Amino acid sequence: MNKAYNYHLIIIGAGGAGMMAAITAKKRGHSVLLLEKLPKIGAKLKATGGGKCNLTNTLSAEAFMADFGRNGRFMTTALQALSHQDLRDFFTSLGVESHSPDGFRVFPTTHNANTILTALENEIRRLGVDVLCEKSVDTLYHDSSEITGVGTGDIDYFSPNVILATGGLGYPKLGAEGDGYKLASTLGHKTTALFPAMMPLKTKEKWGASCRADTIAKATIRIDLPKAKKLKAQGDLIFTKEGIRGPVVLDFAREITPLLEKYGEVPLLINLTKGMNEEEIRQHLKVQATNNPDLSVAKHVSTLVPTTVAQELCHLCDIDSSSAYSTISGIARDNLIKILAWTPLTVIGHDGFKMAMITRGGISLKEINPNTMESKLIKGLYFCGEVMDLDGPCGGYNLQWSFASGYLAGHLGAYHDS
Ligand SMILES: Cc1cc2nc3c(=O)[nH]c(=O)nc-3n(C[C@H](O)[C@H](O)[C@H](O)COP(=O)(O)OP(=O)(O)OC[C@H]3O[C@@H](n4cnc5c(N)ncnc54)[C@H](O)[C@@H]3O)c2cc1C
Repeated sequence: MNKAYNYHLIIIGAGGAGMMAAITAKKRGHSVLLLEKLPKIGAKLKATGGGKCNLTNTLSAEAFMADFGRNGRFMTTALQALSHQDLRDFFTSLGVESHSPDGFRVFPTTHNANTILTALENEIRRLGVDVLCEKSVDTLYHDSSEITGVGTGDIDYFSPNVILATGGLGYPKLGAEGDGYKLASTLGHKTTALFPAMMPLKTKEKWGASCRADTIAKATIRIDLPKAKKLKAQGDLIFTKEGIRGPVVLDFAREITPLLEKYGEVPLLINLTKGMNEEEIRQHLKVQATNNPDLSVAKHVSTLVPTTVAQELCHLCDIDSSSAYSTISGIARDNLIKILAWTPLTVIGHDGFKMAMITRGGISLKEINPNTMESKLIKGLYFCGEVMDLDGPCGGYNLQWSFASGYLAGHLGAYHDS
C-alpha cells in the first residue's frame, strides 16, 4: 500500500451493508476504516422487522431476483457470493441461530434484532476494524479516475478503495439522509428518480376509519389504471384513520408512489374477501340467505368480511344493513356483490420518506459493475446496500441484498479470484 494512504479501504456508513463489507475486507487481510455519522453503528438494523429483524428469506436466487422487478438480475453475482443459506451460516458461525417459522421469512431465533447487531459489532471488534462514529463524510477525493480518500469536515482519510454504504432516504432519523447520492454525483454518478416506498397510504375515502379494529387477511390490491392493471399484491391489510396500512400495503406502496407523483391520485381495487370473485360471492350470499332468511344483510355480509366493513360496504351501496337480504333490490344486491369483489379506494398521499422503510430508486446501476460492485467511472469506488437503484418487497429481501452486496463489495474486485 502507498505510504500516503491511511487505510487500504474506507467504508462510509455502518448499516448492514457497510458492516458486512468491513468484516469481509478485514478477513481478507485489508486494513479497514468504517465511518458512521450517527453516535452508534447499525441504528436501522436494530429497528428492522419491528425489532425482530427479518434477516432474509428462503427463496431461490431466481425467485428472489424476480420479486425485485426491473433491476433484479443485477444481483446475480452478489447472491451467488452470499446466498440466504450462506448468510444464515455466517451468523451461525457468529453464534446466532436463525429459523423460519412460516417457511419463508428468516429471523434470528431470539426474534431480537439486537442479537444480529451485537454479533456484527463483536465480529468487527474481534477482527480489529477501526470504527469511528459521529464522522459524517462530506467529500470524496479522487485523482483523475481513481478514488483517493474521503473528507469528514475536520479530518481527511486517504485510501485507494472507498465503499459507499450510506443507505437511502427512508427513516432519516436512523441516519440515511441521501448523502450517498450527493457524494456519488460529485464523481459523475447519476441517481434515478427517488420515491418513498414501504409505508402506509392515505386514501380519499375515510369510511375505513371505523374499521380500524380488524386485520383483513389475504386482501388483494390492484391498481385501477390501464398501464398498471397487471400489478397486484396480496396480504394482510389494516384500515387507519387516514387510509390503509399492513404488510400488503407496505409491499405495494413502491408501485404506487411513482404513479401518485405522475397522476396526483391512484385508484385501487381491493378484494377483502380472500380472493372470492363476484360469482362465488353471489352463491355464498344466496346460500346464506336461504339457510337464514331472517338474518340482516349485514349479518350475511359479515360471513365474508369483518362486521365493521360489512356495515360500511352496505352504507356505500345505500343498503339498510338491518334489512333482510331477500328484501333488497336486484340492483342493490349487484352493487353489493361488485363492491365486495373489488372495493374501490383512491390513494391521495403518504407521509413521505419520514415513514418509508425503503427508497425506490438510487445510484444508477448502469455505472456499477454487478460482478464487483465497483464504479465503472472511478477506480476503487464501490457501492453496497440500499444506496443503489434496487428495492425489494417486505420479507427479508432488502437486508439480504444489503448483506450480499456488502459481502461482494468487501472483496474489492477479487471475488472471482477467491
Ligand atoms: C423500520 C424499518 C424496518 C425494516 N425492516 C426490515 C426487515 O425486517 N427486513 C428487511 O429485509 N429490510 C427491512 N428494512 C429495510 C432495511 O433495513 C434496509 O434496506 C437496510 O437496512 C439498508 O441497509 P444499508 O446498510 O444499505 O443502509 P442503512 O442501514 O441505512 O445504513 C446506512 C448507514 O450510513 C450512515 N451514513 C449515511 N450517510 C453518511 C455519511 N455521509 N457519513 C457517514 N455515515 C453515513 C447512516 O447513518 C447509516 O448508519 C427496514 C427498514 C426500516 C426503516
